[in-house]
Amino acid sequence: MTEQKKKKMGLTSKIFIGLLVGAILGSIINWKFNTDFIQKYIVEGVLFIVGQGFIRAMQMLVVPLVFASLVTGSMSMGDTTKLGKIGIKSMAFYLTTTSLAIAIALGVSNIINPGTNLKLTLPTAAAKEVVEKTSMVDTILNIIPTNPISSLANGEMLQIIVFALVIGIILAKLGEKAKTTANFMVELNNIMMEMTMMVMKLAPIGVFALITRTFAGLGLSAMLPMFKYMFSVIAGLGAQLFLVYMLLLFVLAKVNPFKFLKKFFPVMGFAFSTASSNATIPLNINKLADMGISKKVSSFTIPLGATINMDGTAIMQGVAVVFISQAYGIPLTLADYGTVILAATLASVGTAGIPSVGLVTLTMVLSSVGLPTEGIALIMGIDRILDMSRTAINITGDAVCSTIIAKQENMVDLKKYNS
Ligand code: ASP
Repeated sequence: MTEQKKKKMGLTSKIFIGLLVGAILGSIINWKFNTDFIQKYIVEGVLFIVGQGFIRAMQMLVVPLVFASLVTGSMSMGDTTKLGKIGIKSMAFYLTTTSLAIAIALGVSNIINPGTNLKLTLPTAAAKEVVEKTSMVDTILNIIPTNPISSLANGEMLQIIVFALVIGIILAKLGEKAKTTANFMVELNNIMMEMTMMVMKLAPIGVFALITRTFAGLGLSAMLPMFKYMFSVIAGLGAQLFLVYMLLLFVLAKVNPFKFLKKFFPVMGFAFSTASSNATIPLNINKLADMGISKKVSSFTIPLGATINMDGTAIMQGVAVVFISQAYGIPLTLADYGTVILAATLASVGTAGIPSVGLVTLTMVLSSVGLPTEGIALIMGIDRILDMSRTAINITGDAVCSTIIAKQENMVDLKKYNS
């Protein structure tokens, strides 16, 4: 375990080094060496190919990863009917807190306006995408795929999600009768998670190329919007923790929220350092047991939450949508905001609990409102630290839900909780 942890921290440090060196080198190019040669062969040549190659590798993951993760996720949701009340309650809790999280993110980022000073021009293909934005009626109808195979081939995310959810529920219902397919889906999911880790190993180089190119084009003026973006995400995460979670614990579970925070903090620290909800599952369940929350509840709600409940990820995606729309000067309508809430809630369900997947599923949230996925290049370089932070919030949401449900079902040892 410690060795695994060391390796993960190693990647984080490498990404930070890539980011830092890229920012410095890019600024130097912008400041002194902005010659035709460097522009043509380095910035728009080597750096563009490496950066774009990395983004394409990430895009390669999206469809199969979301599909497999959602089928397996909804397969375990299908089981929730067996658990009746607890299953339905936790599902309702997870979906509500995630939508709230996105609403908070949209609010915070519209106050801070992280992207307004970045005047970026649209890539030509993306410009077309924006013009082709569909109406609300079409958006609703478009959720139902007429041909699921073509949805998969064309990366129609909402349709893929609907199809995957239905398949997962049916697989759970059929049980033994569809065991081979169910196993296949679980294995496909494992393969895609492994592939994600492999692509992420390239992140330090990808980030270096992307950031150098950004800073070579914009110079130090790129710095402030990026800090503002980071600040918006962290402010959103803080609001979710202190306003939403603490309040829910107080109102719905009638327990002291500060006791919760104090005792639960080490689990957040672990999630922060691993950036993986999945890796945090055992520690989360054990810590909750120490706090008097029955394992009968948490052994179901925590793994389910680690698979489908990603409030922190949803916050990052909400802020990223506003940031990218401002950076490219593409205004979003109220209906767009509605679409973002829906798409990011579904994206959070489809995000696997391992590092960086939130950035992969962000592509589908961006496409849902016609924003250019190239915008991800802007935030990729600084994503690692935000990934660590949002994972801490993701798993806290799962634990808060477990505590509330356990308390309402009389499955909390209050002596232990208050000790
Ligand atoms: N790293 C996150 C988690 O495991 C997912 C993400 O947002 O990338 O919860």
